[in-house]
Amino acid sequence: MSVPRLLASLACAALAVCASGWKAYQKNGIALHWVDRTLHYRLDAGGFKNGEMSNDAFALAATSSFATWQHAHCPASGTETGVGFVFDGWQSDAKAGLDCLDPPACTKLLPNGNHVIVVQKASEWSHGAGVIALTTVGADQDAQIGDADIELNDAAYIYTNSDLPPATIVDVSNTLTHEIGHFIGLDHSAVAGATMAPNAPPGELGKRTLATDDLDGLCAIYPPPNAPPAPGPTCASARAAPDSPVALVALVLMGLCGLAWSLLRIDQG
Ligand SMILES: [Zn+2]
Repeated sequence: MSVPRLLASLACAALAVCASGWKAYQKNGIALHWVDRTLHYRLDAGGFKNGEMSNDAFALAATSSFATWQHAHCPASGTETGVGFVFDGWQSDAKAGLDCLDPPACTKLLPNGNHVIVVQKASEWSHGAGVIALTTVGADQDAQIGDADIELNDAAYIYTNSDLPPATIVDVSNTLTHEIGHFIGLDHSAVAGATMAPNAPPGELGKRTLATDDLDGLCAIYPPPNAPPAPGPTCASARAAPDSPVALVALVLMGLCGLAWSLLRIDQG
């Protein structure tokens, strides 16, 4: 299988200049955020294709990736934010996005739980072949997130949990840690080396761990208990077309298709 190399330089051209690096997605001028900081998720029971990774290894990698954000210490306070993640088990046939209660108009949308979905078939991946993973976030008019789903493109890419991945293979923890940043409301960062930087070449491991820029974003959106108020995000979200050559930063505002909820779809190529 041919796996395209992914270049950051093209992607950055579509981003607004942001002096502070990290950015939060915004809705109505408010940074997207979860109110309840205990977040639940389920993993795709179908796992990865052709035995790339056992489900035990998948769960271990996912747990580790979520824990990276959960146990991050804020630079200013030295304490955790209180954002925590709970693995609720396995689920088959989960769909990304919100439940539509009145198809086809879909004016009534509801959160249906948070999932990490492994898409094994190309026919079921509609986000572009150059996209490694995509996170869909549902938020209400007050920018409160109610639903987040991560999709992994296992149809076009080979995933591994190896600590020494070949340069043509995608490390699942590297990808998940980045996508979990979107899950909690972070946009891409202009800081090279940050987990929330938009590029992710196959074989990369650096996004498994958070950079100071990532911590600054996390701790601004979710100030630790008893911590002084942190400065808010300074930049608006950047948006690019998902089918452009810069699929690394593709972000699509899916439109105000609901009375209360709308979706953001966030690609990582
Ligand atoms: Zn991304």
